[in-house]
Amino acid sequence: MIDNKYELGFFPTPLQELKKLSKTYSDYNLFIKRDDNTGLASGGNKTRKLEYLIKQAIDAGCDTIITAGAQQSNHCRQTAAACAIAGLECHLLLGGKEPKTYDGNLLLSSTLGATIHFTGDNRKGEDIQNVKKTLENQNKTCYVIPYGGSNLIGALGFVNAVKELKEQLIAQQLEIDYIFFASSSGGMQAGLTLGKELYQLSATLVPISIDKDETNGLSLEEVVLNIVTEGTDVLNIKREFELSDISLNRAYDKDGYGVVTENEINAINSLARNEGILLDPVYTGRAFYGMLDSLDREKIPLGSNVLFWHTGGLPAIFKYADELR
Ligand SMILES: *Cc1c(COP(=O)(O)O)cnc(C)c1O
Repeated sequence: MIDNKYELGFFPTPLQELKKLSKTYSDYNLFIKRDDNTGLASGGNKTRKLEYLIKQAIDAGCDTIITAGAQQSNHCRQTAAACAIAGLECHLLLGGKEPKTYDGNLLLSSTLGATIHFTGDNRKGEDIQNVKKTLENQNKTCYVIPYGGSNLIGALGFVNAVKELKEQLIAQQLEIDYIFFASSSGGMQAGLTLGKELYQLSATLVPISIDKDETNGLSLEEVVLNIVTEGTDVLNIKREFELSDISLNRAYDKDGYGVVTENEINAINSLARNEGILLDPVYTGRAFYGMLDSLDREKIPLGSNVLFWHTGGLPAIFKYADELR
C-alpha cells in the first residue's frame, strides 16, 4: 500500500540545520525539513499526498479530478500540476468571487491548465457533488480529492514521509525531540501520527493550528482522529487513538485563516534574513512564529533538538505584497 504511488516529486527532501538561528536560540538546536522543495510546480506538502491520490484515480480509470480550496490554495495548485503530468482533466472549486487579476497560486493553477469554478462562501468543497454531477453528464469519470487532500490515501504520503525522515536521521546520526508544522486540513498530521507509530519515531509532534474554522462540521482534531483511526486498521497498527491523543496547538489561529499579522511577518523576515529560506504568510509563517514563540517562552525543554517541517506555500506571498512591505 505504502509503495502504491505515482511519482510527482523529488524525494527525500533536504534535512538541514538552521545554523544561524541555532546560534540566536542558543538553548536549542534547530533543523528544517524542506518540503518547500518537493519540486512539483514550486513545491509543497501536498505533493506527498497527491502521489497516492493520483495513483488511486488512475487505477480507478478516472479521467477527471475535482478538488477544492481557497483561492490561494497550495493544494489546488499542486493538484493542477499533478493532473498536467498525469494527463488528467482538473477542476478546482475555489472560494470567493472571480478576481479581476489572477495572482499567486490562482495564477499558477490557471497557468497549469485547471478549470476553475468560483464558489463564493464555500471554500472547503461544499459544492463538489454538484460539479461532479454536471461533469458526469458530460461522460467524464470523476475522482474527488477532498479538501486539502486529507483522507487516509492522502495521509499515506506522510506515513511514508516519516520513513524518509527516519532514514535521514539515522544517516546523519541525529535525534529530533520536537517537530513543529502547520496543520490545517489534517492529512499531514494524521499521516505523521500514523508514521510515528509504524516506524517508531520518538519525536513529539507539535502541530500549529492555522484555521480556527471547522470542516464539514468537524473540528480539526476530529478530522485527524477519523483518519488516524481508519489508518490504524488498514496499516495494522495495534494502538487505539482517542481524541485526547490528538494534540493541536491552537494558540496562533485566533486571527483567522489567511489573515496576516505582525507575527507572521516577523517570522518570515527572521527565517529569510538569517537563513535565506522563504516562508509563506498563511501556513508556514504562522507555524514558524508559533515555534519561535514557544522557544522564547521556553515551552520546549532547553537543549532540545527541534525540527521545523517546511510545508511550502511560497506563491501565496505575492498575494500579500502590501502586508510584507
Ligand atoms: C496544506 C498546507 C499545510 C497543512 O497541511 P494539512 O495536511 O492540510 O493539514 C501546511 N502548509 C502549507 C503551505 C499547506 O499548503
